[in-house]
Amino acid sequence: MADKTLFSKIIDREIPANIVYEDELCLAFHDINPQAPVHVLLIPKRPIVKLSEAASGDQPLLGYLMLKAGEVAKKLGLKSFRIVSNDGADAGQTVFHLHFHILGGRPLSWPPG
Ligand code: 5GP
Repeated sequence: MADKTLFSKIIDREIPANIVYEDELCLAFHDINPQAPVHVLLIPKRPIVKLSEAASGDQPLLGYLMLKAGEVAKKLGLKSFRIVSNDGADAGQTVFHLHFHILGGRPLSWPPG
């Protein structure tokens, strides 16, 4: 079996995190190195490596995560926010367990770097 991802260790409480939302399918917690006043990571509990490796069977889960991203952002008091998923090392992915960054709390410039 593949080694547990860092985020699976957070799910299993082997590594502490500041959790803002959890249910049977996903977990949301504050990023350890925030890039905005609010920077939360939303992850599926199923350890999908990245968006481009999701399978067709993951479709309901992916839709669920998008709805949850909006709900979590609202719960955090964000009126405007950005969802980012870095897919692959060249896009900045460093943790290979699918995650959506929820960023807000300041004006966000475009395009991102
Ligand atoms: P990526 O670079 O893969 O798109 O995003 C990974 C994110 O995970 C980064 O923003 C990084 O700051 C965050 N991160 C890395 N290690 C930890 C950790 O141990 N705890 C938390 N809460 N976030 C982490």
